[in-house]
Amino acid sequence: MAQNHYYIKDHKFTAPSPEPALYIVSTPIGNLRDITLRALEVLASVDVIACEDTRTSGILLKAYGIETHKTSYHEHNAAQKSQSLLKDLQAGKSVALISDAGTPLISDPGQRLVALAADSNINIYAIPGASAILSGLVSSGIATDEFMFIGFLPTKANQREMKLRTLQNASQSLIFYESPKRILKTLEVVRLVFGADRQICLSRELTKLHESHYRGTADEVLAELSAIDNLRGEMVLIIAGASEDEWDEAKVDALLVELMGQMSLSKAAGEAAKLTGQSKRELYQRSLQLGSNG
Ligand code: SAM
Repeated sequence: MAQNHYYIKDHKFTAPSPEPALYIVSTPIGNLRDITLRALEVLASVDVIACEDTRTSGILLKAYGIETHKTSYHEHNAAQKSQSLLKDLQAGKSVALISDAGTPLISDPGQRLVALAADSNINIYAIPGASAILSGLVSSGIATDEFMFIGFLPTKANQREMKLRTLQNASQSLIFYESPKRILKTLEVVRLVFGADRQICLSRELTKLHESHYRGTADEVLAELSAIDNLRGEMVLIIAGASEDEWDEAKVDALLVELMGQMSLSKAAGEAAKLTGQSKRELYQRSLQLGSNG
């Protein structure tokens, strides 16, 4: 049974009992103070917290004196655990879902449970907070009006390059998660595919002691990072969108041919329309022509 209490610097607070529901609670991406009062209230007062890793989340919960029962929910037990959490929710219990850092479901477990709860008409509330996506984007200096979150790129080199090629002419800012092990290789492909002059920003260790941002052209950032010994930390990569004059006919055709190799003509036209901002109908006509020429 939850104690309904949490502490901030030894001050004790009592949280109201929550409405029975599934709460998707964002937690910090580094700095433990980046958590909302509402998140603390919910975590202190629900019947159970489903954690990606109970030990990792234990550090955060302990820092706020929260003693709520924890259970593990991760990608390997999601199928079975979603069913048992659904039973709890159907019995009128309140459940909070958290991941190791940031917003659950964003490159993190939770999709299966939320879909199941939605299908079963359970009330679902997001308790918003930190996510590396927006912190990386807004501190990059790169346009924020339209953006696309890609998450982690494929680990296999040829698949990674293929994925980047499909994004080469996108007009939106692009947001990726990347590991320090792969970042230099990824940036080499970024330079090749997007061109040495494309503006990018690599943000490392956001909200933490060694937070740092590397901004410039793909060429400049790659040179700066290559000079760092033992590059470590969590990182978000932002790539500026293609400017409009980059969309000449040859590039649109190349994109369509690439997409047509991976999906139906209609889907390829739809994807190309999203990436280029051009009319899907016209792109479909063009893909028919390209298909009959090839
Ligand atoms: N759910 C999380 C969120 O909302 O940001 C993301 C989880 S994903 C498994 C972890 C990846 O997010 C890391 O590999 C890194 O790319 C990015 N990330 C998380 N925390 C970060 C931080 N403090 N600074 C930079 N990137 C971070």
